[in-house]
Amino acid sequence: FYSEERTEDYLFKIVLIGDSAVGKSNLLARFARDEFYPNSKSTIGVEFQTQKMDINGKEVKAQIWDTAGQERFRAVTSAYYRGAVGALVVYDISRRQTFDSISRWLNELHTHSDMNVVTILVGNKSDLKDAREVSTAEGKVLAEAQGLFFIETSALDSSNVATAFQTVVREIYNILS
Ligand code: GDP
Ligand code: MG
Repeated sequence: FYSEERTEDYLFKIVLIGDSAVGKSNLLARFARDEFYPNSKSTIGVEFQTQKMDINGKEVKAQIWDTAGQERFRAVTSAYYRGAVGALVVYDISRRQTFDSISRWLNELHTHSDMNVVTILVGNKSDLKDAREVSTAEGKVLAEAQGLFFIETSALDSSNVATAFQTVVREIYNILS
């Protein structure tokens, strides 16, 4: 008889969080569309973007959620986090204040989603070498203490952007399969 060949469907919801202007929307724009906005406004944020990825020969869809700038008002809603299995918690290596906010974002993440959400700490804007306020070592130490993956990225020059998303998706896939 006829049996329909069907690939297994994996759809992982992943959220981007972190202070305003750390580069969340540009990380997603770079990853999903290979675009960068030098003077982006919070209005460029889409609700989410679905990106097909290949993990061990399996097609996996990452549904990556971006805020529309509401983090400025500390009003990211619980609906944003609902069902998330992965998170990129982003700071700007050239603004220490955004690194100091990480613990607050982790608290918020754990209040609104499963404790086991796969999380990577992302130090973005690694291209701003002369303006660096947070060392790579500090980022690593925080990530290790909190049990997070860690990476530094640049949405501007593309470095490590795909790896950041792939690290999360691969780990979720490994846990679930
Ligand atoms: P969001 O508020 O976290 O979504 O941040 P945006 O993605 O809107 O970025 C805020 C500002 O930082 C924009 O002017 C971007 O062009 C800039 N930006 C984002 N990522 C980078 C990066 O990796 N390097 C540099 N130099 N600027 C960036
Ligand atoms: Mg944004």
